[in-house]
Amino acid sequence: MHFDVPETDLIRWRRHLHEHPELAYREEATSAYVEEELRAIGVDGIERPVKTSLVAWVKGTKPTDKPTKTVALRCDLDALPVEEASDLPFKSKNPGVSHVCGHDAHMAMMLATAKVLAQHRDAFSGTVKFFFQHAEEQIPGGAADMVAAGVMEGVDAVVGLHVWNAKTGTILVATDRQASTASDSAVIRIEGCGAHGSAPHTGIDPILVGAEIVQALHTIVSRNINPEHFAVVSPTIFRAGTVVNVIPQTAEIGLNTRTKDPEDRKLIKERIFTICESVAKAHGAKVEVEWEQGYAAIEQSDDMINRALRVCRETLGEENVGTWHGMSASEDFSAFSAEAPGVYLILGCGSAEEGCPYSNHHPSFRVREEALPVGVRVEVAMALDYLNG
Ligand SMILES: [Zn+2]
Ligand SMILES: [Zn+2]
Repeated sequence: MHFDVPETDLIRWRRHLHEHPELAYREEATSAYVEEELRAIGVDGIERPVKTSLVAWVKGTKPTDKPTKTVALRCDLDALPVEEASDLPFKSKNPGVSHVCGHDAHMAMMLATAKVLAQHRDAFSGTVKFFFQHAEEQIPGGAADMVAAGVMEGVDAVVGLHVWNAKTGTILVATDRQASTASDSAVIRIEGCGAHGSAPHTGIDPILVGAEIVQALHTIVSRNINPEHFAVVSPTIFRAGTVVNVIPQTAEIGLNTRTKDPEDRKLIKERIFTICESVAKAHGAKVEVEWEQGYAAIEQSDDMINRALRVCRETLGEENVGTWHGMSASEDFSAFSAEAPGVYLILGCGSAEEGCPYSNHHPSFRVREEALPVGVRVEVAMALDYLNG
């Protein structure tokens, strides 16, 4: 199918959304704007599964004697609590909030994809659903809310796409089953017994207990996890004490974990609890571990991985499609891909060589707009290939 990407609209949408970012769970103006533009495009239906999320759809009219299918394309609406460092004319007007993960670009590409498909209903049979998801950046995440509201019912496949600090207009396909990692966190609170700095024998030193816990946590990946697996345990916070001549009463450790294998994820959690309880017990201290379950790893299907590789190579040329093991970061697209076969694509939107050295979430992260029509062509091609293929 030949089509033109509506580039003027694409840039207009992207700049408006970039200028008016909103935080997770508060995407009121963003979802209202998207809804208005979807109405102007003339999609076949729009629903609000959750207050600030949207599902829109376009039905193809191409005759077929086979049963029709439904494919969902997903983008996210929320921005980050980061002050943007930029002199763009459409810089964020919301102090302390900015689209430095590129979700503005995702929404604009999705609107353009909806417009193209609404103009070419005769080119496909079946249904394309457009998921505009709230709250990707904040646990527990908007995807789970949308799944609970039933958005995946009747959806046969789902495609996610994210802009990334890589060569403009290239696509990266994760060839590992997991396109991202599972992320969990914990806060470990150690209660010792405060004492005068000169009389340690009268207290229980929570700093020493904490130090032993940190050391032992670092043995989990090196001694308990298969070296072929991806796993990270990172103690990232250590707080204790206020004065140099006092042994404090308490210490607090914060940590973050990343895994791809669900068994590793379980094992790491168990080991963390065992280490904390055992080390504290050995010293007569008390410990409490507060666990925060994060997003699961994105599970892709082999069929969708292979389809994406073929479709992207056909659409963009072999030289513009790369493969990798997937990202070490986490994403709640995993909630959708747990319900139907899925694939998660990365779209390069500017590399260091192109003057964009900063990664997603950095105050100076930048999306080169030349990447956006490429994302639209990929989304359209993936939808058509799935429905007609
Ligand atoms: Zn992000
Ligand atoms: Zn993001």
